[in-house]
Amino acid sequence: MKGKLILLAFTLLLPLNGYTWGFFAHQRINRLAVFSLPPEMVRFYKKHIRYITENAVNPDKRRYAVEGEAPRHYIDLDVYGDSALHKMPRFWPEAVEKYTEDTLMAYGIVPWHINRMKYQLTQAFKERDVDRILRLSTEIGHYIADACVPLHTTQNYNGQLTGQHGIHAFWETRLPELFSDNYDFFVGQATYIEQPQLRAWELVASAHTALDSVLYFERELTQEFDEEKKYSFEVRNNLTTRVYSRAFSEAYSKRLNGQVERQMRLAIHTIASYWYTAWVDAGQPDLRRLADLSAKELQRLEMEKKEYEQGAHPAREEDS
Ligand SMILES: [Zn+2]
Repeated sequence: MKGKLILLAFTLLLPLNGYTWGFFAHQRINRLAVFSLPPEMVRFYKKHIRYITENAVNPDKRRYAVEGEAPRHYIDLDVYGDSALHKMPRFWPEAVEKYTEDTLMAYGIVPWHINRMKYQLTQAFKERDVDRILRLSTEIGHYIADACVPLHTTQNYNGQLTGQHGIHAFWETRLPELFSDNYDFFVGQATYIEQPQLRAWELVASAHTALDSVLYFERELTQEFDEEKKYSFEVRNNLTTRVYSRAFSEAYSKRLNGQVERQMRLAIHTIASYWYTAWVDAGQPDLRRLADLSAKELQRLEMEKKEYEQGAHPAREEDS
């Protein structure tokens, strides 16, 4: 517990974006997913768009406080060898059989967790449970977006093994913050997903395939840029922080040739498609008849927010 608190204190000193699509990108992705829904769904989701946007980052906020949360955000594929992408069992029971649950938990479970949440979301729709529909929709959006990030599929998640420390937040926070206003986020309508478990693996595969260029182009550009041109300083929350310079970011973004935009688009369309699929699998319940968020859920959210802001994150039982 003490170790945890120290880790926590340390974490709070880091920029809030930590190791995930920054808060900014997660919120934008969840928000935009709403607009890809069919008419029968879009009204309900629009009504709650603030909830879905603001709470998009909750899974990251509890990463260090809730046991078992962290591995849901990534999968270190390279741990399993070169052809991991091809040889890993797609379904949880077979994967456990092959590698044991401890190993899987140690190196990340994002594709299986997405499928599990899809199942839970379908149940929530069947039960017309507004609190759970909103919570699960919001959170599955987070994990889907994480699965689209190349650096969420490797042990070298922050370039720490290749002398590229900082590349994680560079790719998923700095670049979207600088350039995503110019991205084309029109992704078309959600589509039904026949095999949610396999689709989750397709996301991971698309992210992992992009990993080589993420690392390669940064290394290549670093050789072309003088150190003082690679970085610049910005004041954030009253702290002077070293960031990748605009020139370096632009050059990198250019070499990646739309990769961040493609992965964000993939996340947006896929999130809407999982929501839609869960709703269809639940028998297309009439969302106009759903009640509002319960007072209990609003209270829970408020508590969660307070705990996070105060930095007191007691470990607690997760919902199943
Ligand atoms: Zn995450």
